[in-house]
Amino acid sequence: KAKADGRGRFQRFNTIMNTNLQDRYQLEADLREAIEARHLLLHYQPICDAKDGAILGFEALARWCHPVRGNIPPGVFVPMAEECGLIIPLGRLVLETACAEAAGWAEPARIAVNVSPAQFRVEDLAGEIAEILRRTGLSGDRLELEVTESLMIDDPERVLRIMLELKQLGVRIALDDFGTGYASLIYLRRFPFDQIKIDQSFVRGLDQEGEGLLLFSAILNLGISLGLEVLTEGVETEAQLEIIRGLGGRMVQGYLFGRPGPAAEARERLAHGHAPCY
Ligand code: C2E
Ligand code: MG
Ligand code: MG
Ligand code: MG
Repeated sequence: KAKADGRGRFQRFNTIMNTNLQDRYQLEADLREAIEARHLLLHYQPICDAKDGAILGFEALARWCHPVRGNIPPGVFVPMAEECGLIIPLGRLVLETACAEAAGWAEPARIAVNVSPAQFRVEDLAGEIAEILRRTGLSGDRLELEVTESLMIDDPERVLRIMLELKQLGVRIALDDFGTGYASLIYLRRFPFDQIKIDQSFVRGLDQEGEGLLLFSAILNLGISLGLEVLTEGVETEAQLEIIRGLGGRMVQGYLFGRPGPAAEARERLAHGHAPCY
């Protein structure tokens, strides 16, 4: 009885906020349904060689077109999925779809897939990925997992163990949004990364010259000195590309080389071989 009263009071008190909360529950239910019905789509953005624009691979990016609300950006539904436990089925769907798609490409280009920290908490992530590779016929060395620095905070020992299992499959690991987290330098030594992806905010800094240029160049050289592949994200202009190339940056991704597009477009781009801006 006391409990019911308490809930009633809370509801009255919260009438206005409830509209939002209800919206949110509805959206979560819709997302669950979209995942089950496999209505989430992937778009693929080219990853290119800075020297000649050759397409080296694609990053898979999740897209959700809500039947009523239209496109909802991953910056909204991915954090929501993380909060309500849907990130595991979402992550599986993304991995399966991306690997199946890449296995059908005429060229052995790489496929990069974003993976949330929660996915590293499932029983046996490496086992699941091994199974997906087997089912889709994709060779492990064509799959790259993109993780962010937040992954290494919870349980570094466990994360390291899983990463080593993944490396046994030939799977590559990239540190995404590099430079936006903290303690990155320690992580770079401690975990078996193959690549860093310099966050696009550093590319924005290139246009201002001076400090922006110094900072970008320092990060790029850090990655190169550690023997890592260094990819620069968010390249939008020829001027930025010129600077990045001049500083020794070899892998690039951004609107200049192509916006994320549907699977059929990725196949056409791959057949063409290099980004149209070259
Ligand atoms: P991210 O992994 O850092 O992906 C790069 C984001 O930058 C993408 O946004 C991409 O569309 C955008 N982008 C690429 N080139 C340019 C450019 O030249 N200029 C600008 N301004 N933006 C550019 P998107 O697709 O909205 O994805 C946002 C974030 O959502 C991703 O950031 C990633 O963290 C997350 N995400 C997307 N798909 C998935 C997924 O399947 N699983 C997980 N866990 N996260 C995902
Ligand atoms: Mg990414
Ligand atoms: Mg990124
Ligand atoms: Mg990002």
